[in-house]
Amino acid sequence: MTETPPASKISPSIDFDAPGKRWGALVLAHSRDDSAWGSIRIPIGVIKNGTGPTALLIAGNHGDEYEGQIALRRLMNETPVEDVSGTIIVLPGMNFPAVRTGTRCSPIDGGNMNRAFPGRADGTITQIIAHYVTHHLVSRADLVLDLHSGGKTLDFVPFAATHRLPDTALADRARAAAQAFGAPVGLVMLELDDTGMLDGVVERAGKLFVTTELAGAGSSTASSNRIAWRGVRNVLRHVGILAGEVEPGEAPTRMMDMPDASCFVTSEHAGIHEPLVDLGEEVLAGQPVARIHFLEEPGREPVVYHSERDGLLIGRHIPGLVKTGDFLISVAVDL
Ligand code: CA
Repeated sequence: MTETPPASKISPSIDFDAPGKRWGALVLAHSRDDSAWGSIRIPIGVIKNGTGPTALLIAGNHGDEYEGQIALRRLMNETPVEDVSGTIIVLPGMNFPAVRTGTRCSPIDGGNMNRAFPGRADGTITQIIAHYVTHHLVSRADLVLDLHSGGKTLDFVPFAATHRLPDTALADRARAAAQAFGAPVGLVMLELDDTGMLDGVVERAGKLFVTTELAGAGSSTASSNRIAWRGVRNVLRHVGILAGEVEPGEAPTRMMDMPDASCFVTSEHAGIHEPLVDLGEEVLAGQPVARIHFLEEPGREPVVYHSERDGLLIGRHIPGLVKTGDFLISVAVDL
């Protein structure tokens, strides 16, 4: 790092530059009704050994997504220091207030961490965390892996993802890293709302960025946790930070694309959501994918929603009820 990072109210309890492995905390004063001189302690871990690139591994960007939180805790605790060449910084619960309540957004300020970047030093708790991550952690990193899942309102065919980037060399490196993750799908993802995301902060800095969606529905499964655990270590092996060969997934990763907004279907009605196609099934353009039943009008014909294109049903709405404006399904096409 050549520039001095801007001041932050957050202080790390550990040294990121000392060799070895240690857990610590990012400490942020938080004066409140139940703790006048209280603070928030966001867990952070570092493994540093020899020379090599620095990877920043993040989970708990949203508090109700679990595969990444589990895999990163395991990675810290189970990785021998001597297997590392370079530095691994692990932030397994970035929006820690939201992690503690198992909610997408912070219970303190309502902040959605992945709409708060690059953050503000003098902002809300969520913005202060985002600011620290941008200026004190991303600034140190050569690559960033941000592990998401669907949370309580979405579910996915597990995938590692990148974005369409103006820097095509960086886009190619990111696609190769997403493929190395070894999830069932590697996706060039289209973001419906990309303002304030960590993704753009890292990508605009010209750094390698990979994200994931590893199932969802507010919990995790044995299978989705296996994918996360293998994937995190595979990306680190792929870039040479972790010893060993990239471990193949149960099937070759299917590289897919989301070319435009026609990959998404959004509900214009409120009611009971009846899925007509399940995750991982192939759909055709014009095929019915969901029906919405009107709660107050049981005799009224349900509204049928259709896929706008051929592809793989890769994401779906979760709760049994839908509201107007809710995401219903997303479809990915082969790259
Ligand atoms: Ca998420």
